Amino acid sequence: MKHYDYIEWLLYKNKMLSKEKSEEMEQHLYNCDTCMEIFLSLIDEKEAEHAGEIISDDFTFKIINNIPKTKNIKPKIRQTKKAFNYQLGYYAAVASVTVILTLSGFYTGLVDAVPKLSASVQITQEQTNIIAGLSHSIVDSTSNLLFSIENIDRNNRRKE
Ligand SMILES: [Zn+2]
Repeated sequence: MKHYDYIEWLLYKNKMLSKEKSEEMEQHLYNCDTCMEIFLSLIDEKEAEHAGEIISDDFTFKIINNIPKTKNIKPKIRQTKKAFNYQLGYYAAVASVTVILTLSGFYTGLVDAVPKLSASVQITQEQTNIIAGLSHSIVDSTSNLLFSIENIDRNNRRKE
């Protein structure tokens, strides 16, 4: 970044520069802490009272507008990353569950069981819940999975 020196800020403060140059420097001023420090060091207490006359009216407005933008960006990125990681973990879990259930022949058992159950929406939701419950059990431990399948088998037999 190209900085302006003490003399240039002094000329700026005393409005001895062209309008174009002043605007260019003002743009730089609210993006640059280094130059802001130089500029502020040029203003003594008496002049600080008239700072509004030195700095253009929308300067404070621009500063205030820029602050929330900068603050909001970071948490948003973090949230997106979290959601992405969660999704990735979710898909990985679903993939493992699918593999385990396929290997254990669970789907074959489910396909056999479906015609025996009534085709109502309620039962479809029940099956979804059973599978969702299984996902959690598998994450916890393999013994829980086996226990759940045993329970489903028992429940299916009861329904028959
Ligand atoms: Zn600068």
